[in-house]
Amino acid sequence: MITLATFSDGTVTPNPRHLKRRLKKIKRLHRVVSRRTKGGKNRRKAVKRLEKLYRKIANQRKNTLHQVTTTLAKTKSVIVIEDLNVSGMLKNHHLAQAIADVGFYEFKRQLLYKAAWYGSRVILADRWEPSSKTCSGCGWVDEDLTLADRTFHCEQCGLVISRDLNAAINLSKLAGSSSDSLNACGVGSAGARRRSRVKLPTMKQEPDAGYASA
Ligand SMILES: [Zn+2]
Repeated sequence: MITLATFSDGTVTPNPRHLKRRLKKIKRLHRVVSRRTKGGKNRRKAVKRLEKLYRKIANQRKNTLHQVTTTLAKTKSVIVIEDLNVSGMLKNHHLAQAIADVGFYEFKRQLLYKAAWYGSRVILADRWEPSSKTCSGCGWVDEDLTLADRTFHCEQCGLVISRDLNAAINLSKLAGSSSDSLNACGVGSAGARRRSRVKLPTMKQEPDAGYASA
């Protein structure tokens, strides 16, 4: 999970990873808490320090998301996001931390209501649309692409491109014909893990806020 969002024009928003960066400190504080006597004053103090750190991380994460979603809603007329199968990914132990860090549902929630404020349109691409596996140059599909593959190599036209950028370009094509005025973003590792059974591409249009995630 290297980026928070990848845009079809090639720009990326780095994932700040507030939690990950502070994981060591959190672990240390947890150890301090467990060493203190239950019910004691020192334990209460240690718990307070831990809570303060958690609050700080949550706030920073929220601020980053707000900056990104405000900029997107203000500057883009159409935004396509890939509706990630986050719950499926959370079952994958190694991914759970990173996904929780990105806060995909919060990102989507903010984007939807801000789009309504600023008059831009958000298109939620179907989560099974094979945007990561399809070559944005020629349409060849790499059925063997795994989550570990950060670069897309097309065996048909020879295109070598960042996985997330490839997915973002494919998503921007979904939005319609005048793709140069559009921007798409795949959040996190855009494709995540795909199953081999892939539904036909469909689009959900959610012009107003209040999208209920499955
Ligand atoms: Zn190709």
